[in-house]
Amino acid sequence: MKNRILLSLLCFLLWLPSPAQEQAAVGVIAHRGYWKADGAAENSIAALIAAQQLGVYGSEFDVWITADGVAVIHHNATIQGVRIENVPYREIEALTLSNGERLPTLEAYLKAGARHKQTRLILEIKPHSTPSREEAAVQEALRLVRATGVADQTEYISFSAYICRRLHELSPRASVAYLNGDMTPAEVASAGWTGLDYNASVFRKHPEWIGQAHRLGLTTNVWTVNKPADMEYFRRAGIGFITTNEPVVLKELR
Ligand code: MG
Repeated sequence: MKNRILLSLLCFLLWLPSPAQEQAAVGVIAHRGYWKADGAAENSIAALIAAQQLGVYGSEFDVWITADGVAVIHHNATIQGVRIENVPYREIEALTLSNGERLPTLEAYLKAGARHKQTRLILEIKPHSTPSREEAAVQEALRLVRATGVADQTEYISFSAYICRRLHELSPRASVAYLNGDMTPAEVASAGWTGLDYNASVFRKHPEWIGQAHRLGLTTNVWTVNKPADMEYFRRAGIGFITTNEPVVLKELR
């Protein structure tokens, strides 16, 4: 016992991960939901429900805002050839996903999230064409998160520094992680954001950023990691969270 305390103290002084930290399991985040489940599709409510049932830490999804201010869940800027930002909601309302589900609104998605408080909602706001469109997306996302009562289970992510900055300004206690990979841990911390959520190639190039981020109190997440060998590499590197299209594989590996 005494030796363990001394070891932890030594680790602290040397800025090494303590034995307890080293044993911490990697958090599993289902990328666009658990969309490989039967009856699901990427960014469908069915994929969110499947992720909830799987019991992962969080389920990630992408948000765009229509020209008339309705937030919807979709990865690409366009859906079936229509650019979401440029059209009113009624023009895309009837479109369906590959599983037959209607294109989900953010409101419907968050309501489904609220029914399962244990699963974190990893809400990505996509970079829009102008700051004013991004501002509208931020305002609407924050409004709906509050209205549906999911503020405590929602974490925001974005490639857009403007979006991260505004999320932090308007909701200072919210988790906001940056996706774009071009800021050091110190830069992310000084912006007031809470984490680095970077592509695997960025953390492969800068493995030292993982420890630096943790020492600054930031979270670390890597995407999109689907192969067991890569999951193992990042687990050994001390990453906090892995976003994956293979949440079942990652859960078993842990
Ligand atoms: Mg995404």
